[in-house]
Amino acid sequence: MELRSLFSPNGTDYLNIFENMSEEVHIHELIRDEQDRVTDLIFKYINPASTLNSIISKEKIIGKRASEVYNSQECISTYLEAVDEIITTGKSKKFETYNELLNKHFSVSAFFLDGLFVTVGIDITKQKEAENQIKIQADILSHVRDAVIAVDGENRVTYWNKGAEELYGFEFEEIEGKIFADVVNYRWLNVDDKKNAYQRLKIIGKWHGKNISTKKNGEEIYVESSIHAFKDDNGNYIGTISIIHDLTEPVHIKQALEKNYNRLQEAQRIGHIGNWEWNIQNNVTTLSEGLYRIYGLDPDNLAKYETILNMILPEYQHIVNDNLEKALRERNSFKYEVGIRRRDGDIRIISCCGEVVTDFAGHPLKIICVEQDITERKEIEYALWEAKNELKSTVKRRTRELNETNERLQIELEERKITESKLKKSEKDLKALIEELKRSNEELQQFAYVSSHDLQEPLRTITSFTQLLERRYKDNLDSDADEFIEYIVEAAKRMQTLINDLLNYSRVATRGKEFELIDASKILETTISNLYAAIDENNAEINHENLPQIMADKRQMTQLFQNLIGNAIKFRKPEIPPKIHISAIENESKKEYTFSVQDNGIGIEKQYMERIFIIFQRLHTRDEYSGTGIGLAVSKKIVERHGGKIWVESEPNVRSTFYFTIPIKETSKKP
Ligand code: ADP
Repeated sequence: MELRSLFSPNGTDYLNIFENMSEEVHIHELIRDEQDRVTDLIFKYINPASTLNSIISKEKIIGKRASEVYNSQECISTYLEAVDEIITTGKSKKFETYNELLNKHFSVSAFFLDGLFVTVGIDITKQKEAENQIKIQADILSHVRDAVIAVDGENRVTYWNKGAEELYGFEFEEIEGKIFADVVNYRWLNVDDKKNAYQRLKIIGKWHGKNISTKKNGEEIYVESSIHAFKDDNGNYIGTISIIHDLTEPVHIKQALEKNYNRLQEAQRIGHIGNWEWNIQNNVTTLSEGLYRIYGLDPDNLAKYETILNMILPEYQHIVNDNLEKALRERNSFKYEVGIRRRDGDIRIISCCGEVVTDFAGHPLKIICVEQDITERKEIEYALWEAKNELKSTVKRRTRELNETNERLQIELEERKITESKLKKSEKDLKALIEELKRSNEELQQFAYVSSHDLQEPLRTITSFTQLLERRYKDNLDSDADEFIEYIVEAAKRMQTLINDLLNYSRVATRGKEFELIDASKILETTISNLYAAIDENNAEINHENLPQIMADKRQMTQLFQNLIGNAIKFRKPEIPPKIHISAIENESKKEYTFSVQDNGIGIEKQYMERIFIIFQRLHTRDEYSGTGIGLAVSKKIVERHGGKIWVESEPNVRSTFYFTIPIKETSKKP
């Protein structure tokens, strides 16, 4: 069937219209399956405006299935859906579709005309691309941190990015369509600003400046706005786009800076620090509060730098000048200390250090300097210096003293060494002397023995001849001769006794027996029986305590007891009978027994207590008390041979106590 015949019945020449249309017109026949469902379209007509013409020839399209021509299922399905909807609703349908084959977007109007499916397409590819671009831009704008706000010709909000939401706290939905300036109370800082802004927007379409506005939470904020006004082709105002930047944060920073400045001031006050800055360009010097304080000036009454310079003590002025000049010349830092006289007359020491600040070319721009009052530090330093010096001199003195002591000690040591060597020598001498003494003692012993022994013989001859003389010539000679002969006999007898005593004395050493374990009680018994006659005659009373067993020479011990007890009886007081007490005590630490023989006799004067132990020393005449003065000397010799000592304690006319010690040998036995 001819297309033309299809459209002719109502008399309208559609084909002629289609042929001249700028829109793309396609006419299709429907293909249905067994269930009468539309499955594809067959091209019946395309007008000259159709883009398909530029790809495929008309002959190759007409009569072909749309699925074949487009080679796209999606494209077909969009069309088939439209067919279904149009059949169902009985109305035409408008939709947008993308044609992959043509790489174009179309806005399509579809309807049925005489049973044929007609599509009228407009190429909207450009419009789509623009829309996409806008979307991307909007997306970018939404991510800008500043607020981006668009209003229309009546100042109603048409765009409101995330930045705007964050800045003002309003969601886009809340503010869309509302008058922006009213909602956020957007206003200028002053009337002039406002006038200026309106004028600039009107003439050049731009304005940049500061404004005040209010957030949703009522907080007032400072903002910086860049406003762009738009006009249509006819020059009518159609709206603005504003970029609004929050200035509140910089205000905070300013506050923080102020706080820091205050802290710096405080730190300067505490640290006695101040600073000044000399702007060389305009010759203006700025002084910090701390500097006023250091110089004792009132910060409220601004002083010139010269005031401060004049307070520097004259002798330090040149230091300041020299240092600053040198720093300026060499463009580097400086450091010096000066003395100042404060307003109150107080002299202080100030440490100054600073540097010259230059531009890129090296020209000096300014000098900055920090000054610190270091008077206390200097005082401490001085005190430390003094203390150090004192310490030094103390150490010096002590070292000197120590050296002196050392020297003295050295001398003492030397002296001691000499003394020691002398001592050693005298010890040696002493030893030699002892040896000598021993030898001479032995010689003496030998002499005593030999002489007493050898003297006996001639003495005996003298005695016997004198006795013979006495017998034969007694009464034949005159009375004087008889008396003389008697004297000779007496003297010879006495000499005999003396020689015997001497012999006994020397025999203590030479005729001593080996020590044996003997019972001191037994010795005492023997002694008492030997002295029986004297005891009886004097009516003496003898008592004793338990006596120990000792290692001793039995005969000599008997002689010792006999001498002591004999004396105790002999040197009695005539008016009372002798009472004698014998005892022995053990001295464990000294490992010895101390024997004592106590009497109630005439006693001994203190000055004689040593003398009586010397041979032949007596305190009485023979007429008073018989004896030769050998007894105690022999006793001493016996005790010493046994390794002991003998001494006497006495109260004259009351008692005498003779003590002697005998060492405890292993074989000695306790009583
Ligand atoms: P003698 O008995 O032969 O005189 P001794 O040597 O025994 O010699 O004593 C010396 C002197 O010590 C004695 O002459 C006497 O003066 C004094 N003497 C000794 N024993 C006693 C005593 N028990 N009491 C007082 N005097 C004593």
